[in-house]
Amino acid sequence: MKAQDYPLAMRELIECLCRLPGTGRRSAERLALWLLQHGKADARDLSTALIRAVEQTTACPRCGFFSTDGELCAACADPTRDTSLLCVVEQPTDVLPIERSGSYHGLYHCLGGKVSPLDGVMPEQLSIPQLLDRVREQPGCEVILALGSDVEGDATALYLAEQLGELPCTISRIAQGMPAGAGLSQADSITLLRAIQGRTKI
Ligand SMILES: [Zn+2]
Repeated sequence: MKAQDYPLAMRELIECLCRLPGTGRRSAERLALWLLQHGKADARDLSTALIRAVEQTTACPRCGFFSTDGELCAACADPTRDTSLLCVVEQPTDVLPIERSGSYHGLYHCLGGKVSPLDGVMPEQLSIPQLLDRVREQPGCEVILALGSDVEGDATALYLAEQLGELPCTISRIAQGMPAGAGLSQADSITLLRAIQGRTKI
């Protein structure tokens, strides 16, 4: 006798949901049942949103933040932004806490990680040449290093300061009030606001 189980389509949905981060088998089953019970419209909305987000979301060709279909992101395309300020972050997700702090109206550059030889991340793997090109195109700009205050963040800041030292720009780093050893995503808006306003030249 074969033990009773969900039909094949449900089992496949549960398998897919299990692959999501932080979703165990029981949570996946709960989600699948919820979708089943909430009618076809919710499920269709979800599947359409999922496919659209995955297919259309790309990296901004200039700064590396999220954009649509290879176009410039909203900040890069905004003519009212202060182009003399270039804020360097590790990951695209680090842009959002800075934007939400309301304290910054310049442009961004996402490195795509931080220098970490132990994890096999070398400077060549980050978008540093693109950053140097952008600084050359904007002589006299201020490069604000908004990197985490951990060892790798320090190493990355040091490396960038060396590389940028030859170029016609000033370099500063946010520091004041940032939680030691933490990334930008853990800082609240007020801490970040103070950290940006209290940046120091390096
Ligand atoms: Zn951009």
